[in-house]
Amino acid sequence: MKNIIFLAVQGAGKGTFAKLLKEEYGYTHISTGDILRERASVGDELGNEIKNLIDNGVFVSDDIIYQAIEYKITQPECENGYILDGFPRNLEQAKGYDKILEKLGKELGVVINLVIPDEILKQRIIGRRICADCGAIYNIYDKALQPRVEGKCDKCEGDIYQRADDNEESMKKRVDTYYKVTEPIIDYYKQQGVLKTVNSNRKIEETLNEIKEILESEDVDN
Ligand code: AMP
Repeated sequence: MKNIIFLAVQGAGKGTFAKLLKEEYGYTHISTGDILRERASVGDELGNEIKNLIDNGVFVSDDIIYQAIEYKITQPECENGYILDGFPRNLEQAKGYDKILEKLGKELGVVINLVIPDEILKQRIIGRRICADCGAIYNIYDKALQPRVEGKCDKCEGDIYQRADDNEESMKKRVDTYYKVTEPIIDYYKQQGVLKTVNSNRKIEETLNEIKEILESEDVDN
């Protein structure tokens, strides 16, 4: 399968669809946010520095990100396709990624741009809850996505938490930053003819089906 870059403001559903595509096609999900949060949890000097940046919605340095990406995409689990979630985050990172791919002799694949109105986004981010044990994603404001028992995961009974940066202030910063620096990537990939725009403000299966059609038709094309 083709590698995928999910391009979308945080909360538009990248994490959810990455998980579903992993189940359906065996893609490896690479979330730079998850990689950084794991590194931050070590609690050493670099970890604390990263934690501070994340909690304030500020970007971590490109060098740290490039090293993590190059390491991840050359691991055996990525041979059958991977999904990038949270990277590239700006035009500079998109160009940096092209260089990494060229060096490794790998193809870019397809870029999926998930779009969603701002007011829906706010509800999704502030209501988002995550299982600490299995990573399942819930939303306390959406009946279809609420956990059956408050604070507990339906799948593994693990504790459910809210990310420290899923608050209104951090969200506003992240959304503003996104529109300012990430949107130019859309034009960059449009020019390369690899961009597909998908409406993410629908039932999960509807959005998923459209993504699957894109992946399947892309496969036929190649
Ligand atoms: P996310 O889980 O994708 O929302 O990322 C959480 C935080 O991790 C972001 O607000 C940034 O501080 C940091 N981060 C994630 N991906 C990147 C990236 N590609 N470049 C720089 N910082 C990143």
